[in-house]
Amino acid sequence: MTPTRTHGTGGTETLAGAFAAHFGHAPDGLWQAPGRVNLIGEHTDYNEGLVLPFAIDRTTTVAVAARSDRRMLLTSTFTGAAPVEFDLDTLDPDAFDPGPAGAWSAYPAGVAWELGRAGVSVPGFELLVSSDVPVGAGLSSSAALECAVASALAELAGAELNATELADLGRRAENNVVGAPTGIMDQYASMLGAEDCAVYLDCRDGSFRRVPLGLDESGLVCLVIDTKVAHAHAHGGYAARRASCARGAELMGVNALRDLDTNDLARAEHILDGETFRRVRHIVHENDRVARTVDMLESRGAAAIGALLDASHRSMRDDFEISCAELDLAVHTARASGAIGARMTGGGFGGSAIALVPEADTGRVEDAVWRAFSDRGLRTPDTFAVRPAAGAHRL
Ligand code: ADP
Ligand code: MG
Repeated sequence: MTPTRTHGTGGTETLAGAFAAHFGHAPDGLWQAPGRVNLIGEHTDYNEGLVLPFAIDRTTTVAVAARSDRRMLLTSTFTGAAPVEFDLDTLDPDAFDPGPAGAWSAYPAGVAWELGRAGVSVPGFELLVSSDVPVGAGLSSSAALECAVASALAELAGAELNATELADLGRRAENNVVGAPTGIMDQYASMLGAEDCAVYLDCRDGSFRRVPLGLDESGLVCLVIDTKVAHAHAHGGYAARRASCARGAELMGVNALRDLDTNDLARAEHILDGETFRRVRHIVHENDRVARTVDMLESRGAAAIGALLDASHRSMRDDFEISCAELDLAVHTARASGAIGARMTGGGFGGSAIALVPEADTGRVEDAVWRAFSDRGLRTPDTFAVRPAAGAHRL
């Protein structure tokens, strides 16, 4: 069973106490890593392009104790996540099958395995996970889990790995052991986030810069609208978009769509079929919008980026075709009731939208969104504010 809801992280004493109750002794330490929101730059990561996520004040915390043997004992407070045990020496990602209730353990086990592959001698360990990052909402509960575990195990093993090395490790665990072909954005945001900052990341070379968001100074709140829908074609849709992008790059004679700019679009329209062209046009414009969002933030502040968020949403809806009725409704309603800009965020076909809302209008926007969904007989979305917060750290 796939867990659907997280429990609150609770206080650090609560988690340490729960660990002690479960394993019969105190943990060696607690490590925490955040989920993330992608402010702008969607599907640009695997096109070696630009993204601008920020780490949020929703976090995953792990309590961990090293063992003297090679066993891994993994537990989570998560509904439906069964405890799992492995031996580090016999762990084989190709034959990894802990059953549906144990599937979640691929994330922590994957991190341990990838650390071992990187030459780090990981001890056996006991692990208890607790999180308030909603799962499958596009806020990357998976990267939060990977980065918390990577930080913990690297420290317990005495390995000197920096934040970007830990982020890469988390991504390799997700790609190679979980089997999800994700880019590096989520793990970089979770490792490198800083209070009130976004992480401007170049997915080609991994270079990054923290960009102050100044939401408080601008009197703005970033509201997440979790539609709680997950359309069945999300996985197929993601794979199809990646394939279109690869085809577009090949036909245009470049290594990645990152190498095209707006001046290339006339030629692209001539060479490519209509659908591939629209996919390419989204990526080219989206990279440009990320760079312009950073310029705007630095020159005029967060109040000036609304139109860029709106344009990003239209491009995902019309050109990349990864939005859905619920996301369009959330975005449209938020804008109509006071948001200065809004867009779907994450992979698409469900999940969450974000809206930048003047602080005084947040209640009105939330009401309007709930009402719009209920009027159409749709499930009530979750709405909550997120703040740009610190990246992974030991508590
Ligand atoms: P998201 O958009 O939230 O990252 P993913 O499908 O990539 O969605 O990752 C969600 C999966 O990560 C869950 O199904 C579960 O296997 C694992 N996961 C995330 N948080 C936890 C947790 N607190 N405890 C156990 N497993 C978790
Ligand atoms: Mg994920």
